[in-house]
Amino acid sequence: MKVIDHINQAKKPLFSFELLPPLKGKGIQAIYEGIDPLVEFNPSFINVTYHREEYAYKKREKGYLEKISIKKRPGTVGICAAIMNKYNVDSVPHIICGGFTKEETENALIDLSFLGIDNVLLLRGDPIKTEPSFVPEEDGHHYAADLVKQVVGLNNGDYMDEDLQNANPTDFCIGVAGYPEKHFESPNLKSDLKYLKQKVDAGADYIVTQLFYDNQKFKDFVTTCRNAGINVPIIPGIKPISNKKQLLSLPKFFHIDLPDDLVDAVDNCKSDEAVKKVGIEWAIEQSKDLIAFGAPCLHYYTMGKSVAVKEIVKAVF
Ligand code: FAD
Repeated sequence: MKVIDHINQAKKPLFSFELLPPLKGKGIQAIYEGIDPLVEFNPSFINVTYHREEYAYKKREKGYLEKISIKKRPGTVGICAAIMNKYNVDSVPHIICGGFTKEETENALIDLSFLGIDNVLLLRGDPIKTEPSFVPEEDGHHYAADLVKQVVGLNNGDYMDEDLQNANPTDFCIGVAGYPEKHFESPNLKSDLKYLKQKVDAGADYIVTQLFYDNQKFKDFVTTCRNAGINVPIIPGIKPISNKKQLLSLPKFFHIDLPDDLVDAVDNCKSDEAVKKVGIEWAIEQSKDLIAFGAPCLHYYTMGKSVAVKEIVKAVF
């Protein structure tokens, strides 16, 4: 079932979560261990992130360095199929522009459609670590909006080969990313919203947000989106803080601010256990307030660790 149908048919706010494919070499059990504790709360859908290749230098004979490309977390599509098969819960693979030509994207979408996966979250992807800014493949997409257009095209039976006759249209429900505190490359929120609207106008069915800790930022974002004519459901992304180091890493990696009260509470903790408790309590309060605000679904970033998210959904749903 499509995410948008889950939302439209829901009688109460929904719960969903995101997980990462395990590091290469680990089995599918690592995924199941992240899902099992949360299944009893009836997630409407489970997202699986996509991780493109990274470059590393390996020392070879005589000190030569060889540049190699490695994908540390492969398996997004296989994991999505396994989730649907084992749990009968809808899965949402993340599809990115980076590293894909348009044809490779088309073929990946065909695979998904054959597997009965009819949801996708479409993203541009971050620049790879060794490049200062995002570089698309020669025949790839620059922006997520272009990827949305390709999927909408395929939903209308428009494949890249113009000579195809009566090609089977796909039927994907499309999610895209939104940033309550703006995307880090964007000069300001207004500009970012202009491009978010492009994704929605191109055919995105709903938006999932970057994680945030100050609900007022989400509420203002929703209001600004509505004023800008962005009327699709907006799903807030929530991630419980679990250790002190995240006071530095979350702003660095996600380009977000942390509220004073949260920083003070974490700073005052004497142990990691205490930080986890603060993180769970903060996320519970966030979740309850977002439901009261009218969020259609709460989407949790588990990062493969579902213990804290279990505590939160137990208290909220
Ligand atoms: P876009 O919507 O393309 O926007 C990128 C930037 O370009 C923005 O600053 C935007 O304002 C600007 N822009 C857009 N269109 C134009 C235009 N026509 N002209 C000029 N500027 C423009 N990354 C992964 O690699 N794998 C994942 O699985 C993954 N999952 C994610 C899930 C969520 C919910 C979120 C919020 C992010 C996720 N990301 C993931 C990270 C994401 O790929 C990065 O944030 C990336 O830098 C931007 O992706 P986007 O789809 O928002 O890009």
